[in-house]
Amino acid sequence: MKIFECGNCSHPLYFENGSCEKCGHLSGYDDASLNMLTFEAARSSLISDSNGNAFKYCQNHGLGVCNWLIPADEEQPFCKACELNRTIPDLSDSENFPKWQKLEVAKHRLVYQLTKLGMEILPQEDNPETGLCFDFISRQGDDQIMTGHANGVITILLSEADSVHREQMRKQMSEPYRTLIGHFRHEVGHYYWDRLIATNEKILNEFRNLFGNDQEDYGEALNNYYKAGAPADWQQNYISQYASAHAWEDWAETWAHYLHIMDMAETAYYYGISVKPKVREKSLQGDFGFDPYRQKDFDEIYKSWAPISFAINSLNRSMGVPDAYPFVVSQTVVDKMKFIHRLMPHR
Ligand SMILES: [Zn+2]
Ligand SMILES: [Zn+2]
Ligand SMILES: [Zn+2]
Repeated sequence: MKIFECGNCSHPLYFENGSCEKCGHLSGYDDASLNMLTFEAARSSLISDSNGNAFKYCQNHGLGVCNWLIPADEEQPFCKACELNRTIPDLSDSENFPKWQKLEVAKHRLVYQLTKLGMEILPQEDNPETGLCFDFISRQGDDQIMTGHANGVITILLSEADSVHREQMRKQMSEPYRTLIGHFRHEVGHYYWDRLIATNEKILNEFRNLFGNDQEDYGEALNNYYKAGAPADWQQNYISQYASAHAWEDWAETWAHYLHIMDMAETAYYYGISVKPKVREKSLQGDFGFDPYRQKDFDEIYKSWAPISFAINSLNRSMGVPDAYPFVVSQTVVDKMKFIHRLMPHR
């Protein structure tokens, strides 16, 4: 993600900041300009420090889960990210609120990134056939609700926001990585498969050449995967073991990783990160001199990103924490990501 600055004092702002830590001006994210705006705290209305326009906060700002802005003269109460919520957790249970907050951080980052990519984000409320919405739900008793996607509805179990539970799940599923942002990116991948691939025969054929047969029985494929596991040589063809279960899961996993890489690449670009390790191997040098969202050639992005991810993993190991990117990306997987990059309407 890019770095934002206070419009009053130029101090850097995180995307989630509600105010500037240096000068105290209020801050919020304006989705139309893809920018954080700041406001004098004492005023009764929010007049932007930088452009003088009037804004109001999204209604969820009052609940402490959103810092996005809406032009003051617009009627809708919710921002572009919050209007996608169909079900929010029961807040009368005090344990739910901190979990919901974590889900909202991940969801807002997702919506930011989809906007950067130029993806259409249609609220299901106004687009029953083609729209997207979120259900944030906690499992009651022995009901069978799962994190997943169906017909534009993305369900995320609230328990995924509990780091202890998530780590247990990660171990149980033998995954190297399990995060909230990862869940959001994966599930929205299924949604965009319906939008981008299923509706276009030419693209569907290209998809099948790369990802295999999407018409294979999905339930059976998953059962087989949970029984037999991934093929021994899965790393040559897939980004994760789970991706080998079915072409749809391969797509959603690869799509999620494409979003991981693009976000890391944008962050590296804004921080001016380049790495020049003191080794003879030249392929370990990387330099982000360009905005990945404006780069047509995914090979260029990948070439610059891979050495940086290696350096970040090494830094994490210095601190005794898990690798930030604990995956090996084969050429087959890069080719799948190139296909995804070509489908993006940005640039
Ligand atoms: Zn400031
Ligand atoms: Zn909002
Ligand atoms: Zn999936």
